[in-house]
Amino acid sequence: MIHGVQPNTTGLRFLFDTLFILLMKEKIPYKIYLQEDEIPRQWYNVRADMKNKPAPLLNPATKQALKAEDLEAIFCKELIKQELDDTTRWIDIPEEVLDFYKMYRPSPLVRAYFLEKALGTPAHIYYKFEGGNTSGSHKLNSAIAQAYYAKKQGLKGVTTETGAGQWGTALSMACAYFGLDCKVFMVKCSYEQKPFRREVMRTYGAQVTPSPSTSTKIGRKILEEFPDTTGSLGCAISEAVEAATSQEGYRYVLGSVLNQVMLHQSVIGLETQAALKKYDVHPDIIIGCAGGGSNLGGLAAPFIGEMLRGEADYRIIAVEPASCPSFTRGKFAYDFCDTGRICPLAKMYTLGSQFIPSANHAGGLRFHGMSGTLSQLYHDALFEARAVEQTSVFEAAEMFARTEGILPAPESSHAIRVAIDEALRCKETAEAKNIVFGLTGTGYFDLAAYQQYNDGTMSDYIPTDEELQAGFDQLPKVE
Ligand SMILES: *Cc1c(COP(=O)(O)O)cnc(C)c1O
Repeated sequence: MIHGVQPNTTGLRFLFDTLFILLMKEKIPYKIYLQEDEIPRQWYNVRADMKNKPAPLLNPATKQALKAEDLEAIFCKELIKQELDDTTRWIDIPEEVLDFYKMYRPSPLVRAYFLEKALGTPAHIYYKFEGGNTSGSHKLNSAIAQAYYAKKQGLKGVTTETGAGQWGTALSMACAYFGLDCKVFMVKCSYEQKPFRREVMRTYGAQVTPSPSTSTKIGRKILEEFPDTTGSLGCAISEAVEAATSQEGYRYVLGSVLNQVMLHQSVIGLETQAALKKYDVHPDIIIGCAGGGSNLGGLAAPFIGEMLRGEADYRIIAVEPASCPSFTRGKFAYDFCDTGRICPLAKMYTLGSQFIPSANHAGGLRFHGMSGTLSQLYHDALFEARAVEQTSVFEAAEMFARTEGILPAPESSHAIRVAIDEALRCKETAEAKNIVFGLTGTGYFDLAAYQQYNDGTMSDYIPTDEELQAGFDQLPKVE
């Protein structure tokens, strides 16, 4: 008996040490922070790895492929170069932009331990939190890059549209930093519902106009046709483009949909990849909400790149509102990016440029189309898409706020919804999958929507096939 004691203790010690190492490896901190010098120094351009490139933008009048020169009246030169670049895999982030990134990046990758516990799921849930800056969203990642290139070109200012207001705020911050004039056309219903959002933008020096407005030709035309309209993103885009092209020294900038925006947002995915690598975590499922596709595209790009190069496999899910279902019910076709039909045509999943989501839709992600790059990738089955109803989105938002503490933006809550659904599925199948989702922003300016939810007056609206057909009937004819 006594003989056996010695080896036994050694055995126990060995077991203890091994367990300790395993536990230490297993113990992932609540927040995985990267160091400042781990901010990526280059953006990743997923188009370089795509065999089927996104279709070219077309001139809306002639339906011919647009060349850089054709776009110079609307966009900044360097941004056009990025927009049309299908071959350069890595693009340097300018020093000045990197310096600005340091004010709020790297953003944390958070392990949602408390949400996991509340769900009783064996899944491991992570979220990349982009709401830690005043604009409250990931949009600042591209706003600062776009403002930088406008400044470098010697422009006086930029014009843009904003829906919920995050993009307008981000651009106002970026323009204040570089001393650029900033004119924002804000979708009228948001302008009225979110007066404080407007004040943030004005504090950063932007001029904010409700759209449609009487200050542009296209705005006046839309108002004549639809005097009671509460506006749409597509309509505000038309006004902002007109304001840029009719004034010397101004260009138009856009916070989503475009290739260049997805390129800038790749900083999200690259940081996520670096943080996961630190703890040797392989993400099984990557989830992002999709309005115009920039955050999802940015988060997923490096992972999609690995898939395109045959190095790894992931399940990637785009989540959109059931009331504005571009991926799940839209057509893959050339369409206008704006209601006024003055912008270039892009080949994308679209509900038609005249589609305006139901007025009771409060959850954001209202754009009728989708990023051309993401559309091509979706067409090639590199990821799947799911549409969710807004009451279930706010249920998920409430649960997330109560467990993880952050009040999420309604847009982000689409991703939370599907992350929770997938984690619950893991509970059924007893699988400890790694789920990563993009928490794109905070919801402090979305309290009218939260109020509807809390009062029980929020409803769901799913457009009928006939309603969607009316949008498809107006798609431009392009062969
Ligand atoms: C703008 C925005 C979105 C949607 O835009 P994408 O281009 O699809 O990323 C999502 N979440 C927040 C918080 C936003 O501000």
